[in-house]
Amino acid sequence: MRPLMLSRIVLALCFLLLVSPSTALARSRHGDGVPYIVVLDPGHGGDDPGAADSSQTMVEKVLTLDVAKHAASDLRAMGYRVYLTRTRDQDVNVPPRDVNHDGKIDHVDELVARNVYANRRHADVFISVHFDASASPDTHGTHGYYCPDRPFRGQNQRLAALLTASISSSLARARYASPDLGVGTDVADIVPQTRADYPWFLVLGPSKKGYVVGTRMPGALIETLYLSSPRDVAALHHRAIMAALAQGYAGGIKEYFDGRARH
Ligand SMILES: [Zn+2]
Repeated sequence: MRPLMLSRIVLALCFLLLVSPSTALARSRHGDGVPYIVVLDPGHGGDDPGAADSSQTMVEKVLTLDVAKHAASDLRAMGYRVYLTRTRDQDVNVPPRDVNHDGKIDHVDELVARNVYANRRHADVFISVHFDASASPDTHGTHGYYCPDRPFRGQNQRLAALLTASISSSLARARYASPDLGVGTDVADIVPQTRADYPWFLVLGPSKKGYVVGTRMPGALIETLYLSSPRDVAALHHRAIMAALAQGYAGGIKEYFDGRARH
């Protein structure tokens, strides 16, 4: 072994010693040089198909996974670290566990499992990807939900608003005019009102012992396009529109981080 090679090896070892601890310590979310961590949650999956169009060929759980996967690759190309709560057509709570410790395994555990996943990944943002459906075939567009009853309510609202705006303009760039219907609070939505003791979305609301483990980071739930709208469904048959949705999500997340100072 020539001295030059030996010194190179010593240098390489020194470098490894220097780099390894800092890589291990990179768990702290806000350390310099550590990429922001994004958890995308493709809505529904497995036994829960979500909404579908009238012909049952456009199924929400399939579309959400498609958009989330493409948004993830767009975001990774931008340098973010991205995790998906599911990468296949299956439940997130597998094998089934009583995640909230209420003595039974049900749909609440399935949703809480998504929050727990984001917490375990130390995510900086949690975004649940959905498509909507309405009784009226004329209703179309994109809207978002945020929870106002969290310490980071302002960030929730900002994240949701940036996402709906970014998705709508991304669709416009793909030549599909689709309105930004803005954001609303999860408590104002009809679904939680059927659950008086927990009036929030299970994936956005605060922790409640024996029921919900809340996320520890800002989050939003976005509903893009309506599977009850023949116009929106026709658009979704085009790859360019699906790509535009993914780019819209990625762009909104980037804007959120770009406008937020590291601390
Ligand atoms: Zn949904």
